[in-house]
Amino acid sequence: KLGNETIKAELGRASWKLFHTIMARYPDEPNADERTALQSYIHLFVRLYPCGECAEHFRAIVDKLPPQVSSRSAAAVWACHVHNEVNKSLGKAIFDCADIGDFYDCGCAEDEKDAMG
Ligand code: FAD
Repeated sequence: KLGNETIKAELGRASWKLFHTIMARYPDEPNADERTALQSYIHLFVRLYPCGECAEHFRAIVDKLPPQVSSRSAAAVWACHVHNEVNKSLGKAIFDCADIGDFYDCGCAEDEKDAMG
């Protein structure tokens, strides 16, 4: 267990950033393999999250709100909702999930250009 609150908060910010950015880059129309991959990623993220009490708490949230992997927007809004559940339990402000669309930019626009040729 990470005892230090500063380290725990830093880990949380870094983890949320990666988590939401992965959702923002998930395909609009994922195939079966891509859906399985995101489902597995979320499952392992919950299982392996290094702060034990956080992981335990987060697992209960994900049990209640099962991962949505049918599309980019479904995954991004789901991730926003589960993060809001953590925000609520910590007394933090609720994020407006309608704003999630443009918030997480990986700076990878060049990748998309390359992929399109
Ligand atoms: P964070 O919650 O880290 O958010 C970072 C930034 O993300 C915000 O500044 C905002 O720009 C944006 N954001 C906020 N809400 C949303 C949202 N709903 N959707 C998208 N973006 C958003 N800490 C504990 O003390 N106890 C716990 O049990 C605990 N459980 C956690 C479980 C998980 C899975 C994770 C990843 C972290 C957990 N944390 C826990 C850490 C906690 O959630 C915060 O990361 C930490 O307290 C730092 O908070 P913060 O105010 O900087 O903002």
